[in-house]
Amino acid sequence: MQKKIISLKELTKNLWWSWDTEAKQLFEELSPLLWERNNHNPVELLRHISNDELAARCHCKYKGKIDSVYNRFNAYINEKNTWAAKNTPELVKNPVAYFSAEFGIHESVRIYSGGLGVLAGDHLKSASDLGINFIGITLFYKEGYFRQYLNRDGWQIEDYPHQYPEGLPIEKVTGPDGKDLIISVNIAQSEVLAQAWSLKVGRATLYLLDTNIPANESHYRDICCRVYGGDQNMRINQEIVLGIGGVKLLEKLGLEPAVYHMNEGHSAFLTLELLSRELSKGVPAKDAIDNVRSRCVFTTHTPVAAGHDRFSRDMMHYTFDKYLSHIGITFDELMKLGSENENDLNGLFTMTVLALKLSRAANGVSKLHGEVSRTMWQHLYPGLPVSEVPIGHITNGVHASSWAYGYTDTFWRNNAESIDEMIASRETAEAVLAKVSDEEIWSLRYSLKRNLIDFIYRYIANQLYHQHSHSLSRDYDMMRSEKNTLSPDILTIGFARRFATYKRAPLIFKDLDRLNRIINNPKRPLQIIFAGKAHPHDDAGKEYIRQIVEYSHRPQFNGKIIFLENYNLGVAKRMVSGVDVWLNTPVRPMEASGTSGEKTVLHGGLNFSVLDGWWPEAYNGENGWAIGHGEVFENHEDQDRFDADNLYTVLENQIIPTFYDRNEYNIPTRWIKKIRNAIATIAPVYNTHRMVRDYALKYYLNRKEN
Ligand SMILES: *Cc1c(COP(=O)(O)O)cnc(C)c1O
Repeated sequence: MQKKIISLKELTKNLWWSWDTEAKQLFEELSPLLWERNNHNPVELLRHISNDELAARCHCKYKGKIDSVYNRFNAYINEKNTWAAKNTPELVKNPVAYFSAEFGIHESVRIYSGGLGVLAGDHLKSASDLGINFIGITLFYKEGYFRQYLNRDGWQIEDYPHQYPEGLPIEKVTGPDGKDLIISVNIAQSEVLAQAWSLKVGRATLYLLDTNIPANESHYRDICCRVYGGDQNMRINQEIVLGIGGVKLLEKLGLEPAVYHMNEGHSAFLTLELLSRELSKGVPAKDAIDNVRSRCVFTTHTPVAAGHDRFSRDMMHYTFDKYLSHIGITFDELMKLGSENENDLNGLFTMTVLALKLSRAANGVSKLHGEVSRTMWQHLYPGLPVSEVPIGHITNGVHASSWAYGYTDTFWRNNAESIDEMIASRETAEAVLAKVSDEEIWSLRYSLKRNLIDFIYRYIANQLYHQHSHSLSRDYDMMRSEKNTLSPDILTIGFARRFATYKRAPLIFKDLDRLNRIINNPKRPLQIIFAGKAHPHDDAGKEYIRQIVEYSHRPQFNGKIIFLENYNLGVAKRMVSGVDVWLNTPVRPMEASGTSGEKTVLHGGLNFSVLDGWWPEAYNGENGWAIGHGEVFENHEDQDRFDADNLYTVLENQIIPTFYDRNEYNIPTRWIKKIRNAIATIAPVYNTHRMVRDYALKYYLNRKEN
């Protein structure tokens, strides 16, 4: 095989390409159609193109492009002079082991459900960029998370297409003997086996445990079927494989992590396996717990009670019976580690409690969420005032070069070395912004919006082609009719997120007449793009989707309000880059952080949000808009009415007039001033390079301060 083809294939095996614009172009250029149809998956793409055809394609110009990308890739992988080498050499010597039930790295690897996974993926990428020795641990889900369809009535239907290892950039992990590396965990009275896969993400490695092997009973094979699929029993089984299995895997690989980071409580059983190692060495129980604590850190991600896994005493007893017989603690001692009230061990076992008790440091994911978490868990620390509850905060960010959509990445690279260099500090961002004119910024915005609109038409046409959704055909006809057409000249709002009810997706429909007047103002119209999945068990969330789809079909809104099916990383990239305004309407303080609004800023989009999650920290009065001032009402209806009224008022009096206020060249100079302010004040702070540096310095390194 030609050398170039080998290089090209090697590039598909490391997800580094997913944050390199030229690498993506390299694959797309081979066949734009196959690239689109295969969910931007280069492994699948190359499976569809024969080596003969590839050889023919490797003509001189394309060959040069392969060389250029391949050389950059190798330089990246071999770079020694990294941030970590200079600042945290301890974290180069020994790895950080980061456990997460999901990782959202790219849309073609469907092992994520939403925000938590996307954050984990972005964390992994930044850790790689910074040169931290970093290992992710998760499960390999054969069916991933569901694909969303809407039926004729706008009701969500879930479909679970399989993903096969041959079509993914993953490889089986083998032991020193060359055989598949298999670990085993005890669940109830059984021994459940898992094989390991590895996935390269730049310099980092993600390991995926997989119980879907013939040696397991079928109900154990299904542990690795769906992300957050099944019932409580399935959940506890998944968490045993992730936490306990993960530690066993690291040991088999001969790795000695400097720190274990639990991303959310799902993986907290890892502490039990670490404890069992200590006890088996003969360390007394109290010291054993201290030793485990000294190596673990924990991030909590939600103030929503249902977001914290809790298992009944009976389920714990049944599931851990065999495991406990050799770890060296009694069942009541185990229950104590996960009980909110140590004097009542008959209650529920809470994963967050286990994680908090067995880690040396814990954090929430925004300043406000840190405060909320300290109050939420204060009862675990009797005698401590809220302010001293040991839960800090590190605010979430996004991996800028992954999120800077093609045009945007090129735009910033025309004016700086890289997007990372631009967002290195407020000063560097301002220096780059000083080089670009208002016209250039507006032209970027226009291209991005036009690109989004093209995408929406193709996306909907494709949905129709597959005849999965009848409800959308009406949209499509209407959109094509001359009167109701999405336009890049129109102020465009985006709203896309998980349809958990606290996010209140339908809030903007509270007063239909007022919304109608806003949307259909002939001089200053508005269009809105929605997307998002509801959890398969969340009928209230599905009802929200149904309502929005129904509104979008009403004559006054048809073609001006669009609901896009199957929100995922690919759809997110289009939406966050194309819209002018990113709307967020959670009930404060339920949104722990949120990150999608941070993605928008990189493209010159502006945030319009309730002061919740990351937004109260970032909002300065000039870099976007706030809904309300953080008011909290006892009554839901009062809250909704107040927030909706505020939303309309800000839209009518500030957002719309600013957008349509144009100079003699039709440029909205006041709007662009806000874009400049948003980029300079938000992008340098709300990114995962800053976030991972914070984790490394404040949490991963146990440096004694003296
Ligand atoms: C960024 C992202 C999220 C997180 O969004 P928030 O609602 O802001 O927390 C969820 N899903 C996808 C696909 C994303 O890209």
